[in-house]
This record gives sequence, structure tokens and C-alpha cells, in this order.
Amino acid sequence: MNITIIGAGYVGLVSGACLADRGHRVICVDLDERKVDSINRGVAPIHEAGLPELLQKYAGNLLTATTDLASAISHSDISIIAVGTPFNGARIDLSQIEDAAARVGSALARADSYHVVLVKSTVVPGTTDEVVRPILEEKSGKRAGRDFGLGMNPEFLREGVAVNDFSDPDRLVFGAIDERTLEVLERLYHGYEGVPRLRTNIRTAEMIKYASNAFWATLISFSNEIGNLCALHTDVDALDVLGGVHLDRRFGTRDAVLAGLPPIVDYIAAGCGFGGSCFPKDLRALIAHGRNLGSGMQLLQAVVDINAQQPASIIAALRRHFTTVAGVRIAVLGLAFKPGTSDIRESPAIAVVNELLQLGAALRVYDPAAMAELSPTMRSRVAGASSLVDCIDGADAIVIMTAWPEFRQLPELLSRTGASPLVVDGRRLLHKRSVARYEGIGVRHGATSVEPVPLAPQSVVR
Ligand code: NAD
Repeated sequence: MNITIIGAGYVGLVSGACLADRGHRVICVDLDERKVDSINRGVAPIHEAGLPELLQKYAGNLLTATTDLASAISHSDISIIAVGTPFNGARIDLSQIEDAAARVGSALARADSYHVVLVKSTVVPGTTDEVVRPILEEKSGKRAGRDFGLGMNPEFLREGVAVNDFSDPDRLVFGAIDERTLEVLERLYHGYEGVPRLRTNIRTAEMIKYASNAFWATLISFSNEIGNLCALHTDVDALDVLGGVHLDRRFGTRDAVLAGLPPIVDYIAAGCGFGGSCFPKDLRALIAHGRNLGSGMQLLQAVVDINAQQPASIIAALRRHFTTVAGVRIAVLGLAFKPGTSDIRESPAIAVVNELLQLGAALRVYDPAAMAELSPTMRSRVAGASSLVDCIDGADAIVIMTAWPEFRQLPELLSRTGASPLVVDGRRLLHKRSVARYEGIGVRHGATSVEPVPLAPQSVVR
């Protein structure tokens, strides 16, 4: 099929590259000329495993990019809207969606076939029908369901493993205005045999995406509340407690759990909180949306509140060891909100870096992928390190903010140099006895007297 994707960010570009890999002809449209140039040169503008290879293979043939939306749509059967939907402080900000819909609508005026418009961006229930549809109809002078198709196809990919997630999804959710749109969705995903499909109305498709994000975020804040409580006890470590929870056969059979933890347990783990471009803004948008409809949204508000407190536990751990943080040489390991990505949007690491700067700490930061994402202001206030070794050199304290696998080398590196800085492990990446001075989320400061037997292999990516 011939596909136009509007918005060539994490979702749009990964979707485009993966759909090209399935044999479709894809044109990515973005307002950002640098992104467009980069895609056309076959260079990935974001850090995402597998994306460079797909761009090298398909850029210039099955995958092209442009700023000219009207021309792209004139060569396509489907338009997929994948622009950003940030939170504006009070509600979801639909300005990018409105702008994209207006441009698509104007282009639709000239289309002579039954063009299908799909919303892939995460939008609160009702948006496609009450915001996108009227704009498309007004600008095109045509009617949805009669002259063009309209659908909502939420995206569940996770940054860091986005190419893999898009290529091998758990499920496909098709919200559509009519059968014709559903048929087009089926053709779009024709190679995805065996993947469960949910065909539904547009509002339900919109809601499924929010409910999924809210569920995972709830597990994280649940774990952090339990973790914070564990840390108030002597000899109770959240790692062991949540490991005990994992052994419940309802996560899968116990045999499967022992063979390798099921992915759900990545979210049942204490840490310095969730971030990224989705959970924080989607939760806030859903709470605002629910309240607008008269729902209290107490549970999800608590999820957000608990999460907002987590970075403070890193600062509290440092304060237990230094009378003042001012002047203390602190190495911050990790800026990305999770490993495998360069995305630092709403990363807890940024909150911690800002707070430590405020307190006068001397910061050195290192991230294997996200150094270029630091704002110029922040770059002028922290020292950027070129490697893990460079970052920890001479540090009084080391703070792990992202669970990048290479940070697991820390105990070995420290034992080689003989240095014994305080290590504050915001992701429980290291064994608590592997360094001389350890603080971790969900465990009380100081060694435990009994070493529990590990229940199951620890999962790597949180
Ligand atoms: P992003 O900010 O990385 O990309 C959005 C892109 O849209 C940008 O490149 C921007 O320049 C472009 N854009 C904005 N307005 C435009 C317009 N009118 N015409 C053309 N291009 C335009 O955003 P993202 O992370 O890819 O997220 C996109 C949507 O997908 C959001 O609704 C998000 O909630 C949802 N989502 C994101 C993820 C994720 O992991 N990032 C996962 C699932 C769903």
C-alpha cells in the first residue's frame, strides 16, 4: 500500500520504517526539515535499536520523507497521524493534531479515491470523532464514512525496543468508523498473522491505549510505595519482597517464572520513578479528562503523586552521607528515562540533576545515548563525561538513574581503582553488597544480616 505518515518522531518514523520493511511504500511528513533530511540520507535522527539498519535499507526507495504533505497524500491510500500530544498543564494539547488534521483535510479535497485517515497518536476518548473528524470534513468538503474512511489505531511500542515492538506486537487495536476502514486496516497489517486483533469503535480504541499506560504506571507506583515502606524497616529489601510477589502463579506458571521472569515484573520493581514522553503526560491527560466527566480519578492521581516524590528519595539518600551536598563531586549515570533510548523527556534523571544543581553539587554526567539531548543551559552547568570511566573518576558519590546494562560494570571498575564513593542506585541495578557504600531504593541504608536466596533471575530492562 501507499502510506503517508504525518509526524516522523519516535512513533511515526519507527512505524514508517517497519511498514516499509513489510513491503509498503511509505512517505513520512514532518515540519522539521532536519529530520526530513536525515531520513532521506538514511540516518536515524533518534537512538533506537534496529532503526539505522532499516533506514539504510529503505531510505530513498520504500521510505522517503518530505515536508510537503499535500503531495505525499496525493500518492497515498492511507494517512496515519502520529504527531505529538503533550499535556499543557490543564489538559491534552491537541494543537499538533488539529494542525495535521487541517492539512490532511485540505489535501483530501483533491483525493478522488476512498482515502483512509488513521489517528495513531494517543488522544483522549472522543478526540478522533469530535476534533479530527469535523476538521477533516470542513477542510475537505467531504463526509467521513461516505467519501473517506476514519480510524483510530493506537500504538503500543516502547522506546528502546520500538522496532521490535512494532514488528512483533502483542495486539492490534482497530477502531473504525466503517467496514471499509477496517478492511484497509487489515490490509495495512496483512503480514501480522497470529497477532490478536481487537476490532472496535474509535472511542474504545482511544481508551484502550490510556488504560494500558495507566495500568503499567500504577504497577510502578504500587511498587514504589511498597519499596518506600520496605526501606523503613530493618532487613526488608523491596527486591526480595517484590521477588516474592513475582512467584505468584497468576503471573504465569511458577515454572515459567523460574525459567525467566515474565515481562510484567519489569514494572513491579522499586526505583526512582517513571518518566518518558508517554506515562506522565498520558496519566495527567486522562485524569483531566476523567475529572471533566465527573470522575474523581483518585487512584491515578495517587500514582502520579507517588511518582513525583521518587526523585526526592535519591537526594535523601545522598543527604544521609553528606552534611551538605554543596561542592560534593557527584557522577550521574544515565539521563534517558530508560535504557535503549536517547529520550530524556520527563526523565527522573533530569529532575535529580536540576535539584542537585540547585543544592550546589559539582556534577559530572554520562549517558551512552542521550548526551546530545541535554539543553544548552544544563550543558553549561554540568560536566559531560565521554565514558563511564571518565564520569566516575574522582567522584565522592555516584548516582545511577538509568538501568543501562554497561553500568553493571561499576563494582568491578571501583574495585580496580580502589575508590569507594557512595553509590546511590536508583534502579536497583547492582547487588547491594557489590560496592563498599551502597544506597538503593526500597532498602534501608546498611547491610542486612541475612542474605535471602535469590528467587529468580533478575530482569534487565526496567
Ligand atoms: P515526537 O515528538 O517524537 O514526534 C512528533 C513529530 O511530529 C515531530 O517530529 C514533529 O515535528 C511532528 N509534527 C508535529 N506537528 C506536525 C504537523 N502538523 N505536520 C507534520 N509533522 C508534525 O512524538 P512521539 O513520541 O513519536 O509521539 C507521537 C504520538 O504517539 C503521541 O501522541 C504519543 O503519545 C504517542 N505514542 C508515543 C510512544 C512513544 O514511546 N514515544 C508510544 C506510543 C504512542
